[in-house]
Amino acid sequence: MPVPHPETVAVVAGRPPHTPDQPMNTPVHLVSNYVGGGQLEYGRFGNPSWTAFEDALGELEGGRAVSFASGMAAISAVLDLVPAGGRIVAPRHSYTGTIGQLEDVAARGLAEVVFVDIADADAVREAVSGAAMLWIESPTNPALEVADLPRITADAHAAGAVVVVDNTFATPLRQRPIEAGADLVVHSVTKYLAGHSDLVMGAVVAAREEDAAALAARRTLRGGIPSPLDAFLALRGLRTLHVRLDRAEANARELVARLGGHPALEVRYPGFGAIVSIVVRGGAEAADAFVAATRLWVHATSLGGVESTLERRRRWAAEPATIPAGLVRLSVGIEHIDDLADDLLAALV
Ligand SMILES: *Cc1c(COP(=O)(O)O)cnc(C)c1O
Repeated sequence: MPVPHPETVAVVAGRPPHTPDQPMNTPVHLVSNYVGGGQLEYGRFGNPSWTAFEDALGELEGGRAVSFASGMAAISAVLDLVPAGGRIVAPRHSYTGTIGQLEDVAARGLAEVVFVDIADADAVREAVSGAAMLWIESPTNPALEVADLPRITADAHAAGAVVVVDNTFATPLRQRPIEAGADLVVHSVTKYLAGHSDLVMGAVVAAREEDAAALAARRTLRGGIPSPLDAFLALRGLRTLHVRLDRAEANARELVARLGGHPALEVRYPGFGAIVSIVVRGGAEAADAFVAATRLWVHATSLGGVESTLERRRRWAAEPATIPAGLVRLSVGIEHIDDLADDLLAALV
């Protein structure tokens, strides 16, 4: 059989073998203790419901996946790989939780952290000299800056740094960082991969087997394991990722076209995916009035679900001050485009 397309992988990967009476889906394995002497032994070491999800995500990203309790648990397992005192270079507009963890390890003297504009490849090249790790997020949350992955990855490798990409916004259907040379890919599974706003989970995909083993060992040691039910639900969500993303992205493109030129705002869109940021010209107050006036769009912080949500990011104190106060991040869902556009335009007047 030729190599299947990603849309096929999303549907077929991580299933039990095609033999009589095998279940079509790996069931939820609610278990803490296994009969000893085998591969699993204990519920913190392994679970078949995790493995089914990991097989599917690993195949989509082109590496070996390890699942975690949350995106934040996945991020902390990766940061644990930095040797004591090593330097980490990261985007100044990273996810606020990532910035929080980086500032925490720096404050405790565990690592040195340098923030850069990840879209400025020359600045990244300069900063990675002598670094242990280059952390990339692209597009960034919520500024939507796009990094030149192959170029900055090559520069980081030349400098001896490990390259990590938070691929939460793009998903493996729009960006495959391991093909671009990255060593590790991080996901908040909570968002697009699971896609239904009903669970919190994370994952790391490693290009190399030994890195996956090291991350699984960190998971066992620190205990940041996913719930078997969440892993089951995340895999069920992953089965429709391509269908959801195609529709959400088509909606996002159409919304960008319909909002473009509106006098009250400036639109930012990286050209792919289903996150759009709009900067309301009237600032924080006008943006707050706007998000309070929508009826269909839900004011909520998370993203990547089938339903459309929006949020003024600077309502959080942790959001960098370089993000405009009136910036509202839209997570475009899979509803009918006319309903989505009409609701936003009505709320803007
Ligand atoms: C939400 C998010 C995270 C954190 O993931 P959790 O599942 O909430 O712990 C990390 N990176 C990005 C880009 C995110 O959007």
